[in-house]
Amino acid sequence: MSLPRELFTSQGADGQPGALLLRCTACGGELVCFEDERFLLCLTSRLRFRITEDDIPVMLMEEAERLEPSEVDALLAQARKRGLTVPGD
Ligand SMILES: [Zn+2]
Repeated sequence: MSLPRELFTSQGADGQPGALLLRCTACGGELVCFEDERFLLCLTSRLRFRITEDDIPVMLMEEAERLEPSEVDALLAQARKRGLTVPGD
C-alpha cells in the first residue's frame, strides 16, 4: 500500500515523497508514518492513528489508540531501524 502522495511534501525529481503534511490531532506535532502497518504515530501524545483500507488516515481523537510508553519506545526503535522518518532525529 501507499498513502496518497498529496499527504506528503514533494521532494526531488526521483518521485520520493517528502515529509508528511498531516499533524497530530491532539498536539499538532509531527507523526511517524508506518505505511506497512497502516498507522501514524505521535510520539508526544502516544497516539496511534489508523489508516483505512482506502489509504485514508483517520485523524479523529476518538478513533485514535493511546499506547503505553513501552509500546511507543518499541515502535520508535523499529522506525529508526527501518529508516523511517522520525521527527526530531
Ligand atoms: Zn500528538
